[in-house]
Amino acid sequence: AVILGIESSCDETSASICIDGEIKSNIIAGQAVHAKYGGVVPELASRAHQQNVIPTVDQAIQEAKISKKEIDAVAFTRGPGLLGSLLVGTSFAKSFALARQLPLIEVNHMQAHILAHFIESPKPAFPFLCLTVSGGHTQIVLVKDYFEMELLGQTLDDAAGEAFDKTAKILNLPYPGGPLIDKYAQEGNPEAFRLPEPQIPGLNFSFSGLKTAILYMVQGKEAENPNFLQENMADVCASVQSRIVSILLNKVKKAVKQSGVKDVAIAGGVSANSGLRQGLLELGEKHNWNVFIPKFEYCTDNAAMIAIAGYHKYLKGEFVAQDIAPLARMHV
Ligand code: ATP
Ligand code: MG
Ligand code: FE
Repeated sequence: AVILGIESSCDETSASICIDGEIKSNIIAGQAVHAKYGGVVPELASRAHQQNVIPTVDQAIQEAKISKKEIDAVAFTRGPGLLGSLLVGTSFAKSFALARQLPLIEVNHMQAHILAHFIESPKPAFPFLCLTVSGGHTQIVLVKDYFEMELLGQTLDDAAGEAFDKTAKILNLPYPGGPLIDKYAQEGNPEAFRLPEPQIPGLNFSFSGLKTAILYMVQGKEAENPNFLQENMADVCASVQSRIVSILLNKVKKAVKQSGVKDVAIAGGVSANSGLRQGLLELGEKHNWNVFIPKFEYCTDNAAMIAIAGYHKYLKGEFVAQDIAPLARMHV
């Protein structure tokens, strides 16, 4: 079966073609327009999706070397995300399916981040644990089957990606700051600055206290030395990253202990972080876990994960009617 996947939940317009479970193209159009605002501006995101969606889909079809006529079903991100952005992808998918009389498949974006692990081998076996860390979410999920997922814990305030991005703002780095903190961290000493680890019960997370601690630390140091940040950027970034990673991985350890499941995956934009990838690999080796780390292109938002999720729903015949509407909030 040939599946067209469409992703438009935030600020990436993406289209992908999946043929019998193999990704043939994955085109991602980013939106530079948000950089000068220091975050995604929803109204501008919707407009950019509107401009990008047709060329992006055309390019995905071209790169897969198929014709429109060969597409068997259309899968789209229903949510969670920005409603105006979701509406563009959803409306496009519905129109395309209606015009070509194709079945329509709704995909949950957070499930899709996890199902990106089924794009390439080695694929995890069920059940496995997944730490999903992105711009809007931080979750530990027990994945029992493709579409049977149990939320074991989540953030009570900021997401891990937000912790990176808000810290970057404090450090005067441009949006999105996650990748930049990662880059500086590679040259720095993770033990240079002591940052607190919050004591949150169970498998839940909290990052807002850390953000405040970083702000006060930087303000204090800058009062003594106005050039503090310029002189210590690498050490500050390394310390911040190492603390965020330890908060995440300590909960993963706890989840493995509680569930007895030793197959552990990471997913979402923050799974591109080199400290998190390295940390999980080391834990896996130490504790004999099977760890699954996605390729960089499948960490942040992309339509390949929507197409692969759509393919597995296609196999089950799980289609939706034309009156389907996007949802800003959706559970895994
Ligand atoms: P959600 O999936 O929750 O709806 P989103 O789709 O906006 O949110 P993603 O595209 O999955 O999120 O991830 C974007 C986030 O990943 C941003 O916060 C960004 O800073 C972060 N990120 C990307 N690369 C890295 C990196 N190397 N290190 C740390 N954070 C990173
Ligand atoms: Mg994005
Ligand atoms: Fe995402």
